Amino acid sequence: MNAATPSPRKEESAQQRWDRIPVLKTGDDYLASLRGRGTRLFLFGELIDEPADHPIIKPSINALRASYDLAIDDPELATAWSPLINDRVNRFLHIVESPDDLVMKNRMQRRMGQITGTCFQRCTGLDTISVLHSITYEIDEKHGTHYHQRYLDFLKEAQRKNILIAAGMTDPKGDRSKRPAEQSDPDMFMRVTRRTDKGIYVKGVKAHMTGGWNQHWICVMPTMNLTEADRDYAVVGMIPGDAEGITYIYGRQSCDTRAMEGGEIDQGNAQYGGQEVLVYFDDVFIPHEHVLMDGEYEFAQDMVARFTAYHRASYVCKTGLGDVLVGAAASIAEYNGLEKVSHIRDKLVEMVHLNETIYSSGIASSHEAKKMPSGIYMNDAMLSNVCKHNVTRFPYEISRLAQDLAGGIMVTMPSEQDLENEEAGEIIRRFLKGREDIPTEDRMRILRLIENMTLGRNAVGYLTESMHGAGSPQAQRIQILRGMEVDKKKWHARKLAGIRQEA
Ligand SMILES: Cc1cc2nc3c(=O)[nH]c(=O)nc-3n(C[C@H](O)[C@H](O)[C@H](O)COP(=O)(O)OP(=O)(O)OC[C@H]3O[C@@H](n4cnc5c(N)ncnc54)[C@H](O)[C@@H]3O)c2cc1C
Repeated sequence: MNAATPSPRKEESAQQRWDRIPVLKTGDDYLASLRGRGTRLFLFGELIDEPADHPIIKPSINALRASYDLAIDDPELATAWSPLINDRVNRFLHIVESPDDLVMKNRMQRRMGQITGTCFQRCTGLDTISVLHSITYEIDEKHGTHYHQRYLDFLKEAQRKNILIAAGMTDPKGDRSKRPAEQSDPDMFMRVTRRTDKGIYVKGVKAHMTGGWNQHWICVMPTMNLTEADRDYAVVGMIPGDAEGITYIYGRQSCDTRAMEGGEIDQGNAQYGGQEVLVYFDDVFIPHEHVLMDGEYEFAQDMVARFTAYHRASYVCKTGLGDVLVGAAASIAEYNGLEKVSHIRDKLVEMVHLNETIYSSGIASSHEAKKMPSGIYMNDAMLSNVCKHNVTRFPYEISRLAQDLAGGIMVTMPSEQDLENEEAGEIIRRFLKGREDIPTEDRMRILRLIENMTLGRNAVGYLTESMHGAGSPQAQRIQILRGMEVDKKKWHARKLAGIRQEA
């Protein structure tokens, strides 16, 4: 084909894009929808034929699949009534109509964390559709554009088909002291390269994308405030995960190749894992119907701030993982015959206290949500930032305490293959026993789970994602500084001290 003539697939219409995705009801439907998409995904230097069946990728798909299963098993918790399509929809696709919706979302997130013990990759998409409701509405009000209706049309179809949306916000950013338009490589931040009568073309990379390959659509959006010089970088668009021009490069995680060793004990959590991918968009087409911002640079800052107001409270999901880790620490103490010892109990109390402190700030932020002009509710930004800031610290302390209770054997323990070996296995089963009535294998399994969450694959989701996801710690401190109303606080103090001041 002539280089100047785009292939029919490249410039397909919004409808053609939707037509390729079936209606998904069950976890099996979801799994089937990922197969045969013809995507380009690199893992360990090779293009993978069918990523859905790869042993390293599969646990991350299972985690998302659990969100379909939960909607069937517990519809009260994991579905909601959508007035947009007059039907019940998965709560991960529901528009926030009240503070209660946000509270229910937090409860569901904690439950998902308890079920999977990992990042289940669906919160970024929900928080993206939440922020786009108010942002598209306000851009239209100022510029007379039609983004909000496009957004509602997209969301209705997303709810009907019950699909997944990944959030492509973080650009590679290059030299962090420079703005997008000042970078030596103009593609260091995603930008619009061309506009035609049918749509726009975008180029760039979105980094760290959670569950990026596992989802049906990717929403690309700016990562920071922009100026007029950055106008081409002010772009929001919905792109199908199998669009022409996308290349995925899989992010490897600590201990990931244990999934290829055959056994399951050494994986710690053989069923569930997270996923992050580097996604390259090489002149990817977006039809006008799926463009939700193009050039309105002055809205980028609000968009990022509102996204983080939702997303930083979504980190209550980590309390579900915290519940699992507290349970694992309590189990190993019990298997060692130490569950009644006072310092052990006190350490468990400390772990729970930290975990519930995270939960309380997140859920308070949801209860305190305020209505936006578009009609949607948004989390209280101060409390949401406090929640995320707690998350940058407390899981590390909870992990330290879990490792304390686990003992050194957590990192010096022989492999599952040695356990299976007749000679070595006999020694291991005899000498790695704790309490008489507990099988050595059970003790090893719980130790591997603690290793998995604090040093292995799921430490990505429990620790480093807690640190950097939704912004590194300093990003929350900046927001706390902006919202801390110190003048008001000074007024209260001075009034009590009897200092004269204006009312
Ligand atoms: C597991 C995981 C999952 C993620 N999932 C997603 C996702 O689904 N979608 C998505 O869009 N993003 C995702 N992210 C990205 C996340 O939002 C970023 O990691 C975060 O915004 C920090 O950016 P960075 O990693 O590029 O850090 P860097 O920018 O490299 O920051 C490193 C350090 O430098 C500091 N720093 C950076 N720039 C400046 C500056 N200009 N001035 C002063 N200090 C600076 C930071 O505070 C930090 O301490 C994910 C990240 C992780 C770790």
